Amino acid sequence: MGKKGIEIVGMDVNRLLELLNKAFADEWLAYYQYWIGAKIIVGPMRKAATAELEEHVGDELKHAGMLTDRIIQLGGKPIIKPEDWYKMTNCGYEVPEDTSDRTIIEQNIKGEQCAIDVYKKMLETLNDKDPITHNIILEILEDEVEHEEDLQALLEDLRTMK
Ligand code: FE
Ligand code: FE
Ligand code: MG
Repeated sequence: MGKKGIEIVGMDVNRLLELLNKAFADEWLAYYQYWIGAKIIVGPMRKAATAELEEHVGDELKHAGMLTDRIIQLGGKPIIKPEDWYKMTNCGYEVPEDTSDRTIIEQNIKGEQCAIDVYKKMLETLNDKDPITHNIILEILEDEVEHEEDLQALLEDLRTMK
């Protein structure tokens, strides 16, 4: 990592790295939540939901990549053991034991709402202290807001079917 690049970070870099690694854990769990959901979902919304979930799979993987790149740039170490995802996560993982479209969609909405909270708080912490990370988190937050909206729309379509 460039010396000046770290110097301009106006907060404790280790604390920042911890926040980034916690978000990184969330992204992998969200990735898997969507990935497995897209495979096992059943119900009238299966087709539409599968397409949407698969799209989000790609976005969560992209977010994990953005966070890792920043962690490495700041001289940190991204989580290398999947078991640490569970230890570090903010938002956890909802086991999709009920594979109905309604439940899968609702579980993913819950995850997105948690992610929105986490990233909003991170932006407040970062405010003026680290414009680079701020930018990355803002970009991710925009995606999460869109994800919640997309899932909410699926749920509304499902309601009109009943
Ligand atoms: Fe994400
Ligand atoms: Fe998301
Ligand atoms: Mg979408």
